[in-house]
This record gives sequence, C-alpha cells and structure tokens, in this order.
Amino acid sequence: MNAIEYICTACGLQFPASEQHPATCPICVDYRQFVPLAGQQWTTLAKLRRGHRNAFQQLEPGLIGIATTPEFAIGQRALLVRTPAGNVLWDCISLIDDATVAIVKALGGVRAIAISHPHYYTTLVEWSRAFDAPVFIHEGDRRWVARFEDAVTFWDGAKRELLPGIDVVHCGGHFAGSAILHWHGGADGRGVLLTGDTIQVVADNRCVTFMRSYPNLIPLPPCEVSRIATVVSPLRFDRVYGAFWNREITADARRRVQESAERYIEWATGRGGDVSVS
Ligand SMILES: [Zn+2]
Ligand SMILES: [Zn+2]
Repeated sequence: MNAIEYICTACGLQFPASEQHPATCPICVDYRQFVPLAGQQWTTLAKLRRGHRNAFQQLEPGLIGIATTPEFAIGQRALLVRTPAGNVLWDCISLIDDATVAIVKALGGVRAIAISHPHYYTTLVEWSRAFDAPVFIHEGDRRWVARFEDAVTFWDGAKRELLPGIDVVHCGGHFAGSAILHWHGGADGRGVLLTGDTIQVVADNRCVTFMRSYPNLIPLPPCEVSRIATVVSPLRFDRVYGAFWNREITADARRRVQESAERYIEWATGRGGDVSVS
C-alpha cells in the first residue's frame, strides 16, 4: 500500500504521508474546534481536485481573495497581497491546483506566505513548494505544524517585516501565536489589516470580536482583549479583512476595532449596556 498524504475534511489539515489515515486530527480534537458528529473523515489533494475549484475575487486594487467552491472544511479564504516588492499570501486553503498556480503566477507569484494560526495551516507545504516561497509562522504555534519539511520559518517577538510595507504582528489570544498582517499601502495608502481569526469581523461588517474558540463559543478574558486592542492601536489602518468572504470593515476600521474591544470588555465585566459601534 502506498503512503498517502491524508487531509482532514473537517479542518483541511494535510498530514505527512502514511499508509493508514491518522487516528485523529489534533486540530479537531483540540477544545477550540470539534470532531463532526459523523466522525473524523479524510480525503486527499487528488480527490479534492476532482470535485472542487478555487474562486478568485479582487477585494480592492492589490488584494485578491482565493477560496474553494463548493466550500471545503472551515471555508476560509486566502488573501494575496500584491505590492511592487512582491506578493504575500496571507493564510492558506487546502485546495491548490494547476489553475490556481497558473493564475497566482500570472499575478506575480508569491514571495512569502504567512499564516495567522493553525486552523489555516491546511496544505502549507504544497503552496510553499509551488511558489518556492517560505512560510512564516509565529514561534508560539510551533507545536501545531503537521508538515514541517524545510518550508516553515518560525518568527518570534512582536512584529516581523515580510516585505517593505508588509508586516506580521503578533497578537495571541485565539492561539498563543495568533498573528495579523499589516499592509501599509492598502486602502489607497490608509492601511489595511488582514486578521484571520485573531480579530474576527462579525456579521454587521462594522464590529469585530475576539474569541478563544469560535465554534465552541469560548470567550477570551477582558485582559486579553484589552492587550490585543493595545497591540493594534499604534497601527495605521482604515480597513480590516476577515477570514471569510464578505467579512470586512471597509472604512474607519481602527476606531471600530477599539470600540468593539471596549464593548466586549464592558459586557464581559458586567457593565454592558446597549452599546452600538457606529
Ligand atoms: Zn482536522
Ligand atoms: Zn481559528
């Protein structure tokens, strides 16, 4: 029997080649995620390529979202940031196929890949190989990387410049190593944050929230939310793009992130009223 690189259908994580599928998926059995009612199931990249395609959407000049249709696993999008110094891929999705590689190469390729946290590690080694690009993951999440190979560069500290005008910023909270990407030139130079699940854009497209677990609704303590708000307060940005299609704050995002954090803390400490973020 040949060794196969199995992919968890619930979270999209690809495992090192094995003859039998893994017994469990560490991402899914973690208390922040869940094993589906039907149990843990597995696929491969070859099977995924037969039934799924990637869709592309330009979100603003220089920013292209990529997500799989029909939706697969968690259903997040990857975001390709295009700059004169090169492109950065923010977060990752399981499906990578010939069309995706051809389109992304035509858009200038990928100089670096950075991933917000383990829920979006998916097939990071495949993406790294296809574009000959290093993958940047915060040291705090080292233990969650299923396929190291030589692709992953662990970074430490508060911030790391990936390319001129593009930094990853460590926030923690959802995971110890949770990070965001700060694109200084986005939003016509007013600045953009790509936040993954670290700062989650919510349904009203005006506010964000901060959770230890989103599917299992485990909150972060107010002190952690306050700390994350302090980390992002010096950053210059006007827009936030979340992990999913249509989850973005298109204007005045810096104020709205701070006010969302204040509202969260008020409710979490029993002082909540009918606070709205305009
Ligand atoms: Zn999983
Ligand atoms: Zn997550």
